[in-house]
Amino acid sequence: MSQGQYRDTQLFIDGQWRDAEGGATLDVVNPATGLVIGKVARAGLRDLEDAARAAQAGFAIWRRTPAHERAALMRKAAGLIRERIEEIAALMTREQGKPLAEARIEVGAAADVLEWFADEGRRTYGRIVPPRNPNAQQWVLKEPVGPVAAFTPWNFPVNQVVRKLSAALATGCSFIVKAPEETPASPAELIRAFADAGVPAGVVGLVYGDPAQISQYLVAHPVIRKITFTGSTAVGKQLASLAGQHMKRATMELGGHAPVIVAEDADVELAVQAAGGAKYRNAGQVCISPTRFLVHSSIRETFTRALVAHAERLKIGDGLTPGTTLGPLANARRVSAMVKVIDDARAVGAKIETGGERLGGDGNFFAPTVLSDVPLEADVFNNEPFGPVAAIRSFDRIEDAIAEANRLPFGLAGYAFTRSVRTVHALSQALEVGMLWINQGATPWPEMPFGGVKDSGYGSEGGPEAFEPYLVSKAVTVLAV
Ligand code: NAD
Repeated sequence: MSQGQYRDTQLFIDGQWRDAEGGATLDVVNPATGLVIGKVARAGLRDLEDAARAAQAGFAIWRRTPAHERAALMRKAAGLIRERIEEIAALMTREQGKPLAEARIEVGAAADVLEWFADEGRRTYGRIVPPRNPNAQQWVLKEPVGPVAAFTPWNFPVNQVVRKLSAALATGCSFIVKAPEETPASPAELIRAFADAGVPAGVVGLVYGDPAQISQYLVAHPVIRKITFTGSTAVGKQLASLAGQHMKRATMELGGHAPVIVAEDADVELAVQAAGGAKYRNAGQVCISPTRFLVHSSIRETFTRALVAHAERLKIGDGLTPGTTLGPLANARRVSAMVKVIDDARAVGAKIETGGERLGGDGNFFAPTVLSDVPLEADVFNNEPFGPVAAIRSFDRIEDAIAEANRLPFGLAGYAFTRSVRTVHALSQALEVGMLWINQGATPWPEMPFGGVKDSGYGSEGGPEAFEPYLVSKAVTVLAV
């Protein structure tokens, strides 16, 4: 396949690529042009039942496959992904819009995640517990929880799947993913790498369709033992309660509203480069995107001018065009959402320093935006904008910045810039976030925990913590007779 082609996406069920029952499909649109570029199969209930049954059979095989063999297969799939980076990245840019350079990084990172989880999975140890009776032995065995149903969004079409897939496969679980209908082809390539690497039938399944219908069906299905979801807090709460009704384990990676605290003693140039880079990456459609910029009043003007200059230097265009650093928003809903956010900010008295408008022509382009003097009641300071909008407020005392950072119900990522060890200490103790990056942009490496607190969800998708939700413990006590 050349970089110029886009292909239709099928379901992958029981080791076979297939169309949906009745041949149902949905259109896929290129967000840079607004044109339909392909189709994705839309699963019906029979497809979902087949996928669940296959996952049951796949689990019986995979749980008995030694961790060394599982790791070897995961590494083989990672190798295929590395070989195919260029074509997978081009598919992603066509369907999602992000600049090709960002798509390449995402695909390369998927291989990295797979390799780390493959290796770590070989060290899923149980333990031996000293018994109270000297004639007894006590073991704790770690076993895979069972077939997993995953639901992933369109902002990182490959990355959102690979973290869940890696943890599931490394622990011996089988896995069905409902990947995003709007960006289906690139995640399908991740699954194809496993198919081509020789994964046994049923260990990995891929479906697309009506998200609510699929989650209703799979979460309730007796074969499925664990749910994992990435998306909005509102949908996450619905799925968490559905999982609760059916006594299924759940991991929830939900919305954030990351504060960026730029202290009086910060390196302003570094703060703009790092936080500005993180802000406009993937056009701000990132759950860990910096959003509430809390800047010490003594450097507010300098910081604002520099962030505006950063935003205005971005090269907006089709992600496939060389040199593009800001692509279109991934779907038309995001453009309407941005227009609403800006209208609201303007109405409550925020100052639009740059951007603030949709860009004409085809595609879902929205100007990189910086807002200053943003009143606390502005929507952008309360609800995740999920777009290329930075909102600035100033503070005088670090305690006030911390209080503002913790004001919202979300607690995913946080950022801070300071040269003071005392401030680093205060922030790392006080901020209610799952991930804190100080004096840098985000580095969500697979070896570090990835997840939130409060309304941003629960469970981790990185570090050894990522294995826990996929494992159950069995206590075995043996008496020598
Ligand atoms: P949405 O909230 O309807 O969908 C978000 C994701 O959840 C999509 O992938 C969708 O397919 C899925 N989804 C929706 N209803 C579902 C259901 N009943 N069962 C299973 N999956 C379901 O709307 P949207 O327009 O796609 O996104 C809106 C907001 O979602 C964004 O503003 C952002 O806050 C959040 N979001 C977060 C992430 C993230 O990485 N945490 C990714 C995408 C979207």
